[in-house]
Amino acid sequence: MFTVPDPRCSVSPVVRHGSCRLLVHINGTAYSLARFATATPAWRLTKQSPDDQPASYIAAVNEHGLPACSCPDHQVRGAQCKHLGALLAAGLLPAPVPKARSRKRRSRRAPAQAVKS
Ligand SMILES: [Zn+2]
Repeated sequence: MFTVPDPRCSVSPVVRHGSCRLLVHINGTAYSLARFATATPAWRLTKQSPDDQPASYIAAVNEHGLPACSCPDHQVRGAQCKHLGALLAAGLLPAPVPKARSRKRRSRRAPAQAVKS
């Protein structure tokens, strides 16, 4: 039977020590993740496959509040790369907030002409 500890109890909880490692698998390739100690989320993804070329990328939220990655797919092609897709799907990067549309729109019609009498 499970019992709930008395919150008034003054005994400190037992803290277990150990190590952990955060991995994400993208299309069958494992990447280790290390979070930077920054105000906005930023991650280093390091490819773990011994068969592939070593690669390490940084994925973070940029100054415009949008997710960005240092990989060529994002830097050269401007795509939302697989790294960003994985971190967004896992909730490790915040989803970009769409900009609100401005209510001020320029009219496409010509301004009405004043009629003189
Ligand atoms: Zn990327």
